[in-house]
Amino acid sequence: MKIAVIGAGYVGLVTGAGLASTGNKVTCVDIDEEKINLLADGQVPIHEPRLEQLVRYGLAKQNLSFSTDLGRAIRSSKIIFVTVGTPAQVDGRQDLSTVDTVCEQIAGAANGPKTLVMKSTVLPGTARKIGEKLQTSRHKIAYVSNPEFLKEGSAIDDFLKPDRVVIGSEDQDAIEEIETLYKPFLRREENILVMDSASAEMTKYAANAMLATRISFMNEMAAICEKVGADVEKVRRGIGTDRRIGNGHLFPGVGYGGSCFPKDVSAILYLAELLDCPAGVLRATQHTNDGQPNRFVERIKKHFGDKGGGSVLGVWGLAFKRDTDDIRESPAMKTVKLLTKNGFSIKAYDPEATENAERELDTMRVMLCRDPYGAVTDVEALVILTDWPEFSNPDFNRLSTLMQKRVIFDGRNLYEPKTMAQRGFLYCCIGRPTADPST
Ligand code: NAD
Repeated sequence: MKIAVIGAGYVGLVTGAGLASTGNKVTCVDIDEEKINLLADGQVPIHEPRLEQLVRYGLAKQNLSFSTDLGRAIRSSKIIFVTVGTPAQVDGRQDLSTVDTVCEQIAGAANGPKTLVMKSTVLPGTARKIGEKLQTSRHKIAYVSNPEFLKEGSAIDDFLKPDRVVIGSEDQDAIEEIETLYKPFLRREENILVMDSASAEMTKYAANAMLATRISFMNEMAAICEKVGADVEKVRRGIGTDRRIGNGHLFPGVGYGGSCFPKDVSAILYLAELLDCPAGVLRATQHTNDGQPNRFVERIKKHFGDKGGGSVLGVWGLAFKRDTDDIRESPAMKTVKLLTKNGFSIKAYDPEATENAERELDTMRVMLCRDPYGAVTDVEALVILTDWPEFSNPDFNRLSTLMQKRVIFDGRNLYEPKTMAQRGFLYCCIGRPTADPST
């Protein structure tokens, strides 16, 4: 099948390379010429495990190509995936301008019947509006809503072995066409869920809203644990083993971030309010999350007291989570900015996100380091903000020697408090009693 994928970002690249791996002829299109040139050369400009390998495989098999020529890609493809960004506006509303432009371009350039597959996350009701636009085309363009559920950091696995594929459309031929595309990735056919387009669109928002809510809920439980002397990690395991609850997305920390949860919660909240629907749970989820970096910074400030401003802190982690270089809405970045605003100077290290972070941080206050130990040299405390695997078992003796004071604020609960106290560290984490070697 000849396929065009419009928007070669996290979702578009994974979709394009994934579909090329099963023998389809895929052209990924982007407006960013520099990115397209790199990709055509087999270089992937984002960090996503195994993506470069899959892109190179597609290029070598001549099943995958890259272009900035949207019209040509549309004309030579039967199926067109739309994977451009749908960011939030300042008031939380979804910005659909890029999706709208691309859909108009598809309608204008179509030279025969096409199927437009919307993979970008768009609010319920968008299918109907875009459907109207597509009617202006001289050719029939069937519309399919096919929300993407991949997670950055494990996107290739999520695409090649999805839990489920949601196909929302009112066009039976298009449904069958897209089912055929996905069958190689699904062992069990019942995991292809066919529904109307509004339900498919809503499924994506309900999924992200539920996952974000679980994280905020656990952050609230963690705050109570801190006050009553309970250990939230024990509580997490205690509830996660209940099959009705399950283990996923129950990790307390400095909050959720990334390019999806914050903007998708904002967008569905905005829509709910517009439609006069109750949205108290979502509002609370967002409110708790927005305050999480600040709550953590307040604990750091309390430790330093009046002499805090001017202290130098080491920071491990800037990406919004492990295994990605993505810093969009990263709670780690928000925490670093809050710390500098409060007068702290920072030495920061992230295995992959440093280049992206450099563009956003005040480099007068934040020194970006090339290795984790450089970032802790002579600091008065280490602050851990992303759960990268390389932070889970560092050389604690080396840390002790390099750091001015043995103090760790862990926003990801990577270590056992008791062991940390035995190692001589004052260890302050989320939702667990602080471990103090002097007591
Ligand atoms: P992204 O910002 O990484 O990629 C978007 C790409 O589109 C960029 O490369 C940009 O240059 C390109 N682009 C912009 N305008 C264009 C145009 N007119 N023509 C062609 N290309 C254009 O975005 P992303 O993270 O891949 O997200 C894309 C969509 O998928 C969003 O709606 C997002 O909510 C959704 N989504 C993202 C994830 C994720 O984890 N990143 C997961 C599921 C769903």
